[in-house]
Amino acid sequence: MRRTKIVATVGPATAAIGPMRQLLEAGVDVVRLNAAHADMETHASNLRQVRELAQLLGRNIGILVDLPGPKIRSGVIRDGEVTLERGQEFVLTGRDQSEGDATRVATTLPRLAEWVQPGDDVYLADGAIVLRVLASDGRDVRSEVVRGGPLRSRKGMHLPSAEAHVEPFTERDALALEMAIAAKADFLGLSFVRRAEDVELVRAMLPKRGIRPALVPKIETASAIDNLEAIVRVADAVMVARGDLGIQMPARRVPLLQKEIIRFCNQAGKPVITATQMLESMTRSPLPTRAEVNDVANAVLDGTDALMLSEETAVGLFPIETVRMMSEVAESAEAWPRERVDPVADAAADGDRVAWAVAHAAVQAAEDLGVAAILCPTRSGETAHRVAAFRPRVPIAGISANPAVLGGLSLVWGVRPLFVADNADGNEQLRLAIAAARSAGIVRDGDLVACVFGSAGPRAGATDSVRIVRA
Ligand code: PGA
Ligand code: MN
Repeated sequence: MRRTKIVATVGPATAAIGPMRQLLEAGVDVVRLNAAHADMETHASNLRQVRELAQLLGRNIGILVDLPGPKIRSGVIRDGEVTLERGQEFVLTGRDQSEGDATRVATTLPRLAEWVQPGDDVYLADGAIVLRVLASDGRDVRSEVVRGGPLRSRKGMHLPSAEAHVEPFTERDALALEMAIAAKADFLGLSFVRRAEDVELVRAMLPKRGIRPALVPKIETASAIDNLEAIVRVADAVMVARGDLGIQMPARRVPLLQKEIIRFCNQAGKPVITATQMLESMTRSPLPTRAEVNDVANAVLDGTDALMLSEETAVGLFPIETVRMMSEVAESAEAWPRERVDPVADAAADGDRVAWAVAHAAVQAAEDLGVAAILCPTRSGETAHRVAAFRPRVPIAGISANPAVLGGLSLVWGVRPLFVADNADGNEQLRLAIAAARSAGIVRDGDLVACVFGSAGPRAGATDSVRIVRA
C-alpha cells in the first residue's frame, strides 16, 4: 500500500468523465484545479464531477483549487512571437496595452516604471529571457537584453527586485476563492506568496464557521524562502512549487531548497507537496526519463507527503500511465529505510503538547507490538495528522463522519481517510472505528490495533488516550 499521496491536475486531457474516473482509479488522492486557466464554471463542474465519481468509487478524494495569485505577464506580441537578441535594447511599458514587437512590449503592471531601478534584472518568457534595466523615466523602462530568446504573447514575467509592490490578491483570485468556497474545496493553493501576511489575508476571507478549505501557500518566490518559517507556521500545508521557484532563483538551488522545505514541514508536522516537472516527459511519451524516476523517488526519500502532476495529467497524452508510473515509483522508494523525523519538539511548541505526546506514544506502542493499524477516530483530523507526522511503519486510518475532515486527510502521508456514519464517543467510537477499518480491509478479525482518541470529559475532543485492542 502506497503511503505517499498523489495530487493530479485536471485539464482538457482528463476533464471528461471517462478519463477522470480512470485517473481516480489509477490512485490519485487529490485532484487539483488550476484557476490560472479555464473559467470558473468549468472548474465548478469538474469539481462536482470529481465528488460524484469519488462517491461512486467509495473513495475520499481531496480537491485543491489553486489560486493564480499575482502572476505578472508581458503583453500581446504582434504575429505571436519575436526573438530578442543578446545586447539589444528593449522597452517595457505599463502605460498602454498596444501590441509588442522586437523593440517593446506591454506588461500587466501599469506602474512597473516606478518600481524598478537601473541594474535590476527582469525575466521574460517564464524566465528564459533576462533583461537588465538601464533607465526608467517613470513611464517606460529601457533595458538591455542579457540573455535572449523567443518571446511569445502573454508569457510569465518575473521581477524579483520589485515584487513587494505587487498586490498579493487579484480579482481573479477573488473569483476562484468564491468558487472554491461555494463548492467546498478541501484545499486552496496560494500562488506567489511572499510572507505570512499574504496567507493571513486569505484566511480572513474564509467563512468564520463551517467548512473551510485548508490553505496551502506555494513556496515559489525568493521572499517566501526568506520568510519560510513564518509562512509554514500560518499554513495548513505547503507546496514546493519548483517551476516558478527555479525562475525566481537559480535552478541549481531548487534541489537543496526542496530538502530544506520538506524537512522543515516534517518537523512542524505540516503536510508538504512536491510539485512541477516530476514526470514532465510523459506529457508526450509513455515512458519517463531515468532522471525523472530518480526525482520522484528522491522526493519520497526527502520525506514529502505528496507528489504533484501538472501538465502531465492536465494536457498530456498519457495521463493515466503517468499516475500509475508515479504510484509505482513512490511505493518502491518507500521501501528504503528513512531517517526518523521527530516532530514533537518543534510542532508541539505552539500546539497541544498532550495530543502530540499521545500520538508519539501510540506510534511507539504500535511498532513495539506490530499492530495491524493505528486507528484515529477524529473530529478535526488533527489526531491522524499528528500520528502521521511520526511516519509509522504500520497503516494509519483517519476516521470521521465529516466528509470535509476526510478530504483534508487525503493529502497527509500514510493516512487512509475512512468514513463512519457517526462520530460516537467512548467504546462505541472504538467499535465503529474498528468496523470501518475492517470493511476497508486494513484490519482483520483478531488483529491487534492501536486506537488514538480523545476520551469524554473536560478535555472532550482533545486527544488524550491510546488503547491497544483486538479487532
Ligand atoms: P504553477 O505552480 O504550476 O501554478 O505555476 C507550481 C510551480 O510553480 O511549480
Ligand atoms: Mn507557480
